[in-house]
Amino acid sequence: MLRIILRRILRDGSRSGRGSNGPTKKDRHSMLCHYNGVIGARTNATMELIDSHAHIDFPQFAEDRDAMLVRARTAGVTTLLAIGSGPGPEKLDAAIPFAEQHDWIYATVGTHPHEAKELTPAHLEQLAKLAQHPRVIAYGEIGLDYFYDHSPREVQQRVFREQMDVAARAKLPIVIHCRDAWTDCLDMLEKNWRPTGLGGILHCFTSTLEDARRGLDMGFLISFAGNSTYPKAQNLRDVAKALPLENLLIETDAPYLAPQPYRGKRNEPAYVGEVAKTLASVRNLAADEVASATTENFRRFFGLTAGSPAKSAAAERQ
Ligand SMILES: [Zn+2]
Ligand SMILES: [Zn+2]
Repeated sequence: MLRIILRRILRDGSRSGRGSNGPTKKDRHSMLCHYNGVIGARTNATMELIDSHAHIDFPQFAEDRDAMLVRARTAGVTTLLAIGSGPGPEKLDAAIPFAEQHDWIYATVGTHPHEAKELTPAHLEQLAKLAQHPRVIAYGEIGLDYFYDHSPREVQQRVFREQMDVAARAKLPIVIHCRDAWTDCLDMLEKNWRPTGLGGILHCFTSTLEDARRGLDMGFLISFAGNSTYPKAQNLRDVAKALPLENLLIETDAPYLAPQPYRGKRNEPAYVGEVAKTLASVRNLAADEVASATTENFRRFFGLTAGSPAKSAAAERQ
């Protein structure tokens, strides 16, 4: 019985239930309550949350992946972008199965700058094919990471350009990973990406207000992760306070960067409300206002209507 309830909760992502034969909002509420009663999970009925960046395919979730997704739904996560960079080029479709199984989950494809040195022309061809998948709504995460330097910087830059080309041909916005490389990254975006007009997401933003504004100018949304909740991250909260609300997103980057109350533990999408609370406190808003605004920002940017399984924005751009 529990398995059936769990499967139904996970499968049906539409809050309104429109256009599907799935359970109504009331049904789901009672299913969630029932499920909560069984596992004692916390409900947060007022929040309507986006997790714009999570690695739900990662091995850290091998033991409890379904339960982790149920906790996300119970916490109010209505939309989730599953990042498909996976373990590297050995698995290029890592996020797609989740988006095929759950209509509240969307997928990306792309190779992380850490694994840039492993990417071959054959991989790029395969990525170009996967980018056509109807549940893939963005390309990434791609960019530059000069903190770890797992791949040589010139290789990271070449592969970043090559993947921008693939994304541009697929007419997909890009999800940018940038660490300690903001000037190079923004310069490359201005040269290679701005002309496409496709924009994207600056994920786990960690730079200055000036850099955030360079991103906005190119049509990027700015996404804040759990590190914005840390006591020493006042600089990030100041940036989050100064930017227009309609350009903000929130994310977990799970399993990394658990927000302050869970710091040091494995992160998961159910915790994204902590980022909403932090942004709300610096902007003098209620957490549910930040939650619904950021969810709406994501849905508007990607042209997703409530419960829509299709990448309508991408279709419009073609
Ligand atoms: Zn990243
Ligand atoms: Zn990531």
